[in-house]
Amino acid sequence: MRITLVQGDITGQDVDAVVNAANSSLLGGGGVDGAIHRRGGPAILDACRKLRASHYDKGLPTGRAVATTAGELPARWVIHTVGPVFSAAEDRSELLASCYRESLRAADELGATSVAFPAVSTGVYRWPMAEAARIAVDTVRATPTRVMDVRFVLFTPDAYAAFEQALNAAGPAD
Ligand code: ADP
Repeated sequence: MRITLVQGDITGQDVDAVVNAANSSLLGGGGVDGAIHRRGGPAILDACRKLRASHYDKGLPTGRAVATTAGELPARWVIHTVGPVFSAAEDRSELLASCYRESLRAADELGATSVAFPAVSTGVYRWPMAEAARIAVDTVRATPTRVMDVRFVLFTPDAYAAFEQALNAAGPAD
């Protein structure tokens, strides 16, 4: 697997699947979620509504991932995952790791071999960037998958720097 870092907007990525930092309602929100729905058009929200009605009437649980069409995005699919809200009192890192694992599992089910991830939970959900980057990089590297091209798409220079450091700390790939 090749891991690359990109600074920019995930909605423009030409990959098989783009991961969305969704909320459990699957009905859209701010941040990367809002950007994906805006640029991808109404087909994504339609698919999310149907999924909610058929499988997730109580919402998609934290740490899980589910795929829909990518609408008008260059990607073929959007994989929606629900990150945990950061808590200083409780260690929720396993749930954040689960977002990356479950997204790769969903990608494998689709046959997607290139996947772009945002820095899940580091916006409204307030996860410290350095720690979120370490969990993201370590989890993706440790997950068996047929995905060959993983792209972390970081919105800010700070996020990019944090992921670069996490990637360097992880050492050469196996
Ligand atoms: P969460 O609720 O999981 O924290 P957010 O969307 O609020 O999700 O933020 C997750 C990360 O995505 C943040 O680091 C934010 O800066 C970044 N982000 C926001 N918009 C985009 C975008 N269009 N492309 C890539 N990353 C984005």
